[in-house]
Amino acid sequence: MKTIQNVNFKNTKALIRVDFNVPLNAQFEVADATRIVSAKPTILKVLEDGGSCILMSHLGRPKAQEPAFSLRHIVSTLEAVLGVQVLFASNCIGEEAQKAADNLQPGQVLLLENLRYHPEETKGDVGFAEALSKLGDFYINDAFGTAHRAHASTTIIAQFFKDNKCFGSLLAQEIESIDKVMKTGEKPVLAILGGAKVSSKITIIDNILDKVDHLIIGGGMTFTFVKAQGGHVGNSICEDDKMELALEILEKAKAKNVQIHIPVDVLAADDFSNDANTQIVDVRAIPENWQGLDCGPKSKAIFHDVVQQCKTILWNGPLGVFEMETFSSGTIALGDSIADATKNGAFSLVGGGDSVAAVKQFGFENKVSYVSTGGGAMLESLEGKTLPGIAAISE
Ligand code: AMP
Repeated sequence: MKTIQNVNFKNTKALIRVDFNVPLNAQFEVADATRIVSAKPTILKVLEDGGSCILMSHLGRPKAQEPAFSLRHIVSTLEAVLGVQVLFASNCIGEEAQKAADNLQPGQVLLLENLRYHPEETKGDVGFAEALSKLGDFYINDAFGTAHRAHASTTIIAQFFKDNKCFGSLLAQEIESIDKVMKTGEKPVLAILGGAKVSSKITIIDNILDKVDHLIIGGGMTFTFVKAQGGHVGNSICEDDKMELALEILEKAKAKNVQIHIPVDVLAADDFSNDANTQIVDVRAIPENWQGLDCGPKSKAIFHDVVQQCKTILWNGPLGVFEMETFSSGTIALGDSIADATKNGAFSLVGGGDSVAAVKQFGFENKVSYVSTGGGAMLESLEGKTLPGIAAISE
């Protein structure tokens, strides 16, 4: 894997695809700078080598050139994060951008206006990619969040940089973390899949059965498995049309020697509300009109033991409706278990959508080995797909 660590950028104009798709508040200020901070190591490496940086990104999904989606809004935050002045080009291609790039001196940073002001970006237009490519003499992709898209700046552009292209440090870390789980992870390997629906996780489950020794299935998915095996799930979320599939997964797991762990007890509620009446019940005997919204104490203890046994841990999806405090304790207990295992030497990766939100909300961010920055890109990686943005650099 060619990364920025293998390259000296002295006198090089590095064209870097970053993910500055950050949330803005009502005053158009950056509300969460995580993604900007994540790109800092790559940018600083180029500058410290004596090169310059031309940064390109999208922001939101503008339909036209709407000012609300201008990357100009992030300039001051970017300057504060990097500690250097940032020049801005009000169009990502064309005369102004080209001139600004041509005049760029070692140590300088130029930010281009929102790539998605041009519909050619998401269409993966070759001409647009070529125009972008003329701005720099080396291409770095550091945007994991869009690596699953074959857009002009994430994938198509790479063909204009034969050997002069590599992964940025963030993207390299993401790839290494996923490989540690999917390819090179120390055994026993555990995947924990939670969240709402079997249907949205089925391709991941299918792919992951070949890689893991243990699989914990929790969250709303639990009930499709439990009902398929003859349990009573009351009003719990359940996909009846996926019950057949659930049984097939259990069979497949058995054949592959994967141990599946499903909650044995749940915290059931008489309403989908934080103030609902609750009781702990056997997962196979949820009373009518009650719904399971978190896992129960026995399940927490079982999951804790499984987590402690494993040396490589992947976590995707909460174990309950963690957004409501009443139903957050299963997810928090699991986070604690993973933090413990990590302290004892296990590698833990958290990624994909709501589990990242949960990890941040409950303060586990620095207690796990790696928290992925990409939602969709992470999920597609777990499904076993080759991401076009990664393939374009590797080829
Ligand atoms: P996903 O995006 O598939 O990872 O699903 C995450 C969502 O699943 C979160 O918003 C949780 O509130 C929800 N969830 C987790 N457990 C349950 C459950 N037992 N019943 C309903 N929703 C759940």
